[in-house]
Amino acid sequence: MSNNQPAKRRRLSDESVPRLREAELRKIQDLPVWEARKAVLEGICSNQVYVIVGETGSGKTTQIPKFLHQSRFGKSKIICTQPRRVAAIANATRVAKEMGCKLGGLVGYAVRFDDTSTHETKIRYVTDGLLLREAVADPLLQQYKVIIVDEAHERTLDTDALLGLLKRMQRLRKDEFHIVLMSATLDAGKYASFFPGAEIGLVQGRQHKVDVMYTKQAQESYLDAALTTVLQIHSKEAAGDILAFLTGQEEIDALCNLVKTRGAQTKGAHGQEKLQAVAIYAALPAEQQAQVFHPAPPGSRKVIFATNIAETALTIPGVRYVVDTGVVKQRSYQTGAGVDLLAVVPISKAQARQRSGRAGREAPGKTFRLYTEAEFEKLESSTTPEILRVNLAAAVLQLKALGISDIRAFDFVDQPPLPALVRALEHLHVLGALDTTGELSPCGQQMARLPVDPQYAKILLVAAASGCTEDAAAVVAMASVEQVFVNGRTEQQKQAATQAKQRFRRPQGDHLTALAVLRAFLATGKGKRGEWCVQNCISGRAMQRCHRIFQQLCTLLQAMKLPLERLGDTQDPEPLQRALVCGLFLHAACRQSDGTFKVIGTGQEVSIHPSSVLSGSKPECIVFNELVFTRRNYARTVCNIQMSWLIELVPTYFTKHIPR
Ligand code: ADP
Ligand code: MG
Repeated sequence: MSNNQPAKRRRLSDESVPRLREAELRKIQDLPVWEARKAVLEGICSNQVYVIVGETGSGKTTQIPKFLHQSRFGKSKIICTQPRRVAAIANATRVAKEMGCKLGGLVGYAVRFDDTSTHETKIRYVTDGLLLREAVADPLLQQYKVIIVDEAHERTLDTDALLGLLKRMQRLRKDEFHIVLMSATLDAGKYASFFPGAEIGLVQGRQHKVDVMYTKQAQESYLDAALTTVLQIHSKEAAGDILAFLTGQEEIDALCNLVKTRGAQTKGAHGQEKLQAVAIYAALPAEQQAQVFHPAPPGSRKVIFATNIAETALTIPGVRYVVDTGVVKQRSYQTGAGVDLLAVVPISKAQARQRSGRAGREAPGKTFRLYTEAEFEKLESSTTPEILRVNLAAAVLQLKALGISDIRAFDFVDQPPLPALVRALEHLHVLGALDTTGELSPCGQQMARLPVDPQYAKILLVAAASGCTEDAAAVVAMASVEQVFVNGRTEQQKQAATQAKQRFRRPQGDHLTALAVLRAFLATGKGKRGEWCVQNCISGRAMQRCHRIFQQLCTLLQAMKLPLERLGDTQDPEPLQRALVCGLFLHAACRQSDGTFKVIGTGQEVSIHPSSVLSGSKPECIVFNELVFTRRNYARTVCNIQMSWLIELVPTYFTKHIPR
């Protein structure tokens, strides 16, 4: 611990958290990391790589970047990565408030399609994917003195790629810089030993006792069980908010709505009459995420319906009860299939423990696991890192763009299986991103500049060559938001929703329908768009986000000197359909005699998702954005195509995988 100069000491004690109410200030200084502040700073200063392990809620994410800023790194840029955009935004917002500055001042965030940071910004919260992209222009991340990789235990693909890159940087960068890894779980030994000379520091958490309850029998529907349990807690248990883990936007919105109606009829225990439901999930716009942190109004109890974002990445104050459905929506690569499948799967024991822990942050709490103890015992002990279970094409493209030509020799914390790497290289080759020697082609370089998955980047580039870039940008933007059409609650609303969808329906499928929706939205006067959304049973929030992404994609495409052309309304949509084929060929499927479809490259059987405008119709051949599993494999966001296009447009792939 050689860095204890008096100058540093003085600065540390001089500065305190500015402009917060006394009580709040005291609460912050009460966080476990404050006790460990000196040790944490010393650990970081005296080691190039320092791993900080501490219970969720102990103050790592919000306090440590601030400590660093208030130490001798005051003039340097500090970057802190998060696996999720919601966490980057929420934490930056919180820290800006604690430090009494505006977002984009001293503290800022940058996530895909949304960058608030400015030249003034010294503490920057970003997604790990965004930092990877920044590394293309600045491979050694020279502008940062301290790089904090937060939530390292999550082991997302981007985090793992970043860790590999940082290790390379450690070898190549000669100036003084520090790498800090933060994790909520104890198995940090693995990434610590990945970096030569890394030290581990432990922040002692304060966890209250949490009673864990299991169901006696397995539950048929975790959604029904979750709703019943939430209402029971509200009517029987002492004061305290409820955090319920669900798997995605659709479920969360549905339960929020049900609580609004049913919760009003359920009388709360202990004078807490009202039950207020709030939501938090990835696709929620930044402005609405903030709501989840507001305390419930006096006399009411809050229930937060969240995805696993609230497991470790965000700590929401006030929670005393956790409802754990035991499931999570996860992307995984089916062995041998080469196609990612999005499915609701059981969580791991480690995740179940993290979820329980959320109930005991401020006082003793209770966790209601909506599964039996025997089911718990059968769970995997920890979650498999993403790098071992997803399509690697996006990560490989980024690494190639960073000048790492031999991906197989790249040092990862966990080496991805060779067949998965080979498949990613093949995928990129067919997309035209790699030339025959495996180097990035000019097309690949352009693809790497576009902040979307390689298949979408390809769609944009092909569209640019065929006069429909703007339409493709609309389709890609629409693919980035979870759900545009709102499902009605009552029969009448459901009918209205179906009719609205019918108005925009295009026979070519969901992509062109989405394009029609966005065009109609943009054709509506700015002040009338909200009303237009309501009338058409369309989510205004989703449209706003989509619109923002669309604008940013257009700006970027223009900056890349690609012509921003669009199909005329009466014109044939074929160029756009063809562009979709060029990007989505792994997701091409043909109809079989029984009416289901077979994915050509893999032989998987799929059906068209009920939410698709093509559900119920009988196209011969389709491409789709996503494969999801609920009871069976479903193709989501589907476009009708001609089978002959496959060989014509993607011969390298379809001469190997012959349709039919
Ligand atoms: P860690 O990273 O160790 O999990 P955080 O730094 O995220 O911890 O959170 C520290 C504490 O700050 C939490 O216990 C929580 O109570 C509080 N906190 C974090 N974000 C917010 C917010 N947006 N609003 C209010 N309190 C917050
Ligand atoms: Mg954190």
